[in-house]
Amino acid sequence: MTAHTAKDSAPKAGAMRTKLPKPLKGPKQASKRMGLAGRVAMIAVAAAFFAALAQWVVTPILGQGEIRQQRQTAVIAGANLLADISRIHAEAGHWSEINKLVDALSVGMPDGQSAVFDANWQLLAKDGAVERVPPQTKLAELAADMSAVMVEGERYYAARRIESGGTLYGYAVYSFQPRAFIDIWLWVVALNAIVLSLVLLAIAPLIYRLARHALKPVTELERRIRMRDPKDKSKLADSSDDRLLKPLLTSIDEVHERSEAAMRRALTMAYTDPVTRLPNRLRFVSRLDGAVATGEDVYLLICDLDRFREINVTHGPRLADIALAGVAERLRATASQAKLTGAFIGRIGADQFGLILPGASQVAVSEFIAAASHAIAQGFTAEGQYVRLSASFGAAISPRDAATGGDLLKQAEIALKEAKRQTASSFAFFDQRLLDRARAQTRLEEEMREGLERGEFVAVYQPKVKLETGELVGAEALARWRRPDGMVVSPGAFIPIAEELGLIAKLGKQVMRDACFAAAGWNRRGIVLSVAVNVSPHQFDDPDFVNSVYQALDDSGLSPSQLELEITESAAVADADRVARIMWPLRNRGVRLAIDDFGTGHSNFAAITRLPFDVFKIDQQFVRALSTDPHAPAIVEMILAMAEALGQETVAEGVETKEQADFLLRRACTIGQGYYYSPPLPADEFDAFVRSYRPRKADRFAA
Ligand code: C2E
Ligand code: MG
Ligand code: MG
Repeated sequence: MTAHTAKDSAPKAGAMRTKLPKPLKGPKQASKRMGLAGRVAMIAVAAAFFAALAQWVVTPILGQGEIRQQRQTAVIAGANLLADISRIHAEAGHWSEINKLVDALSVGMPDGQSAVFDANWQLLAKDGAVERVPPQTKLAELAADMSAVMVEGERYYAARRIESGGTLYGYAVYSFQPRAFIDIWLWVVALNAIVLSLVLLAIAPLIYRLARHALKPVTELERRIRMRDPKDKSKLADSSDDRLLKPLLTSIDEVHERSEAAMRRALTMAYTDPVTRLPNRLRFVSRLDGAVATGEDVYLLICDLDRFREINVTHGPRLADIALAGVAERLRATASQAKLTGAFIGRIGADQFGLILPGASQVAVSEFIAAASHAIAQGFTAEGQYVRLSASFGAAISPRDAATGGDLLKQAEIALKEAKRQTASSFAFFDQRLLDRARAQTRLEEEMREGLERGEFVAVYQPKVKLETGELVGAEALARWRRPDGMVVSPGAFIPIAEELGLIAKLGKQVMRDACFAAAGWNRRGIVLSVAVNVSPHQFDDPDFVNSVYQALDDSGLSPSQLELEITESAAVADADRVARIMWPLRNRGVRLAIDDFGTGHSNFAAITRLPFDVFKIDQQFVRALSTDPHAPAIVEMILAMAEALGQETVAEGVETKEQADFLLRRACTIGQGYYYSPPLPADEFDAFVRSYRPRKADRFAA
């Protein structure tokens, strides 16, 4: 139990370290933000302030005409006053003392400036402040019109005649320069702004309180939505009778319901495999993690369909999907019949299902595997086609084999690989030996990749001899891996791995080029031999295969007729059409084709005779068995007879003794290859071998 809690809390602590969850907004944080009422109050204050400001700016612009009018009236009134007083002064006979009058007036009208002229426009008196008097002609014009005002620069002028009883005494000129309007106005605005700000500041709390009161239903609602428990399914609309809020709440409820439904649909889609309706890998893995984390015994079983790719190709993806759904159903039914309580099934790969079996015993799992294998092997009939199926199983148990879901998956996969590898049974339980082997395999795979980059894969050459004359007619190129530690690895160990890892295309190309260049080199040195290269069916997956053969021939300068490609019988019959499609163009160029290891495949003679082959290579097991197995001579004879009937050349592999060579010649076999003549040799040794070779003839009439 303690182990369980420790495990439970560990990942949580890790998660805290890497990604801190967003803290929930508590009441303290909420109060720090400005509330709705605060915002409304602020907007009201700002609006009042800006409205007042706008008014102050606009007022002087709009009032400009009126202001000018006022100024004109003022200057006219000043001129009238000066003229009237001057007239009274003149009537009283004090005209000569007009100076004193003007001085006295300037005290009374501090903003204005006065000047008095005689009837001939001679200046009689002026206010001390007057610096410049406008030209006499302009003043005369001004005095002629009672309502005229002259503006010069910033200054306003008005002039009046001083006359009484038909006598013109002179002229009164009055002027004043008003203070710049903007100066006054700025002052007004600044003062107003200060006053307004103070007022607004004073009433802001009141506005705030009013806004708060008005918005109370909304803020209350906001608080409720924020504090709402996610599990609370009650409708928001039911909680308010407010005429304005109710429709709003109803639409919030609707949006909420719709988004929840969409979320549920998306979640289901994200975690379910559409073909089988089983949980997908994502959901399976998270369930597995949970099951393993309990610390209780839990078996993980992987069920992998055999050769599913072929089924896809032969029956098409639609039928393959139907078969997959059928397998899912049978696994489910078998699990429920087997009473495996708590079994959880998911689709974890294209042709893989996973089963989490908590608390199951190894015996129960074995029984389930047997029952499920049986159920799957019944096959499926759909759309008039029968789909034959079989499956392999790999199992591992936690906590014994692995402490995490991810590791448990790896171990079950290792067990599955073992199940696929072995032929006797179709299931395996994980154990440590398998892990060691898997690790060694991984190491080997890495070394192979590096070896391929470093050119460690080379060809050796085994001569082929015409049985009758003993003369050399060709050589077979056989791949070898020369490892940096000096060890030489045989193809039986690395070809299957290269095929599985998809490295065979590259490896095959290297051997092909090696062989073509070696044979072209022999030609140049006067040794005219053909060279045979083994081709794996996996190389046909490489769309560049045919081109790479042409390329090797072109680059080396070897004649196509000197190149022979060997394809094993089993590969040739497995997909005869494809082999024919790929091989015909090569054959039309003159490349020869051989069926390798003949007699070991499930011979399909109809298919083989359709293929463009020139050579049959009898598998070495028949040659070896010639002296030990009483049936072997008959089989060899039959193959040779068939080849002869088809007019094809025959090569016997694994010839080790003179007796074997003699027998083969007697039965009309044409060519022999084997240790009797020579083991496979590195390219440089092959030259020397050829030069020192003494023909080893077979004897047709030997006993
Ligand atoms: P294979 O094409 O049937 O090659 C003949 C095998 O028999 C060779 O084994 C050869 O060394 C061996 N052999 C030859 N004479 C004798 C004999 O007298 N007695 C005995 N016991 N064995 C003899 P090797 O080189 O180990 O190659 C094994 C197989 O690996 C080849 O069988 C071929 O199928 C495959 N292989 C070799 N090189 C390549 C390659 O470059 N590409 C591909 N795809 N497969 C290759
Ligand atoms: Mg071969
Ligand atoms: Mg062979």
